[in-house]
Amino acid sequence: MSDCLFCKIAAGEIPSSKVYEDEVCYAFNDIAPQAPTHFLVIPREHIPSVAGIGVENSGVVAHIFEVIARVTAEQGIESYRVVSNIGRQAGQSVAHLHFHVLAGRDMTWPPG
Ligand code: 5GP
Ligand code: ZN
Repeated sequence: MSDCLFCKIAAGEIPSSKVYEDEVCYAFNDIAPQAPTHFLVIPREHIPSVAGIGVENSGVVAHIFEVIARVTAEQGIESYRVVSNIGRQAGQSVAHLHFHVLAGRDMTWPPG
């Protein structure tokens, strides 16, 4: 999608602090970290949110979770939280599917 911020980041058109990349997904540090470790994992394909996941593209999500498990393990992170906000009421501000990975501090439940 031409005017999508995260499509541009995945394409390297807007700079970001890369954590990991492959042909399916791109991971980068959040510009406003909410924990000592806070990175985002996005598909290269434009999918607006979890609500846009179906049988035709759910393999991307499986892949992203494999990547999250591998990257956190490589960084020695044993406890972390994965979050995806869907829609404005839940706090989604960028309409390109992304999974927040947060770690490095105590976390509360329920989330705010
Ligand atoms: P959401 O609010 O949609 O769940 O998450 C969007 C996230 O993207 C926020 O945590 C926000 O800080 C991050 N973000 C927004 N714009 C940029 C940017 O230009 N670069 C990076 N690295 N992160 C961004
Ligand atoms: Zn996009």
